[in-house]
Amino acid sequence: MLSLRPNCERCDVDLPPDSREARICSFECTFCADCADGPLAGRCPNCTGELVRRPIRPEAALMRFPASVERVLKRPSA
Ligand SMILES: [Zn+2]
Ligand SMILES: [Zn+2]
Repeated sequence: MLSLRPNCERCDVDLPPDSREARICSFECTFCADCADGPLAGRCPNCTGELVRRPIRPEAALMRFPASVERVLKRPSA
């Protein structure tokens, strides 16, 4: 099951579970559309896998299976 992370790993913008701007790789590294379609060119910088649009979890399902609230952020190392 997707954890539906709440933010972009690169620029830390909020990505709520109903956001159509969220992009994920197969490991669920999570990025916003601006990062994914721009500087990342559709590739996850962590695993080089492709980034695709994260599906929206319906609200009824979110009640039973809430989105993650744990923010993941990779700080550039320079
Ligand atoms: Zn971003
Ligand atoms: Zn990845």
